[in-house]
Amino acid sequence: MRMILVGPPGAGKGTQAARLVERYSITHISSGDMLRAAAKEGTALGVQAGGFMKLGKLVPDEVVIGMILERIKKPDCAKGFMLDGFPRTRPQAEALDAAMVAAGVALDAVVLIEVPDPLLEERAVGRRSDPVTGAIYHLKYNPPPAEIVDRLVHRPDDTAEAVNTRVQKYHSETSPIIPFYLDKGILKRVDGVGDPDAITQRIIAVLETGP
Ligand code: AMP
Repeated sequence: MRMILVGPPGAGKGTQAARLVERYSITHISSGDMLRAAAKEGTALGVQAGGFMKLGKLVPDEVVIGMILERIKKPDCAKGFMLDGFPRTRPQAEALDAAMVAAGVALDAVVLIEVPDPLLEERAVGRRSDPVTGAIYHLKYNPPPAEIVDRLVHRPDDTAEAVNTRVQKYHSETSPIIPFYLDKGILKRVDGVGDPDAITQRIIAVLETGP
């Protein structure tokens, strides 16, 4: 299975991706995680990306496209992959399409997790992640166990200001990829409001039984 998760910041892509890759035994590729790791390591790519990320802006296409196209060539992607956070612009979607055609493989599904804008800021600002296990929590909606609270990380771009910029970028830059995949007949829309388990079930239902 080769698939993409699309949705605004705070839609729950990371949480759902972690569950789905386990179910389908595919490799999880999060462009945001890769860029954050590069920024932390201080690689040239990471330093370049870090400035954009902190402000909630998109990292330039040429940087992200090269990184992801290299990543999906690795052997662990042969059995399938889930892209989380990529593509985020129409040129990224077109570059991915061209690379997949050249490799003789096709995307099976693009899952669009829909969450209304007014819910996104609170979801992202309350988000915390555990650097040890990779688990994602929310201070109000999915509170972490007390013993790990001190080690949790709050992303620098999960401030109200950066989230609002990211939501605007989602509408201006990312939504144009929706008609691209709609035309290909592989777009599956899922209501992203509610309990995370219920949303996982909705995604599985559209993947396994159609829209
Ligand atoms: P995420 O973890 O998916 O929310 O991504 C965090 C940040 O990384 C975004 O706000 C962007 O600055 C950058 N980023 C991640 N994926 C992409 C992408 N496909 N294109 C451009 N920038 C990206």
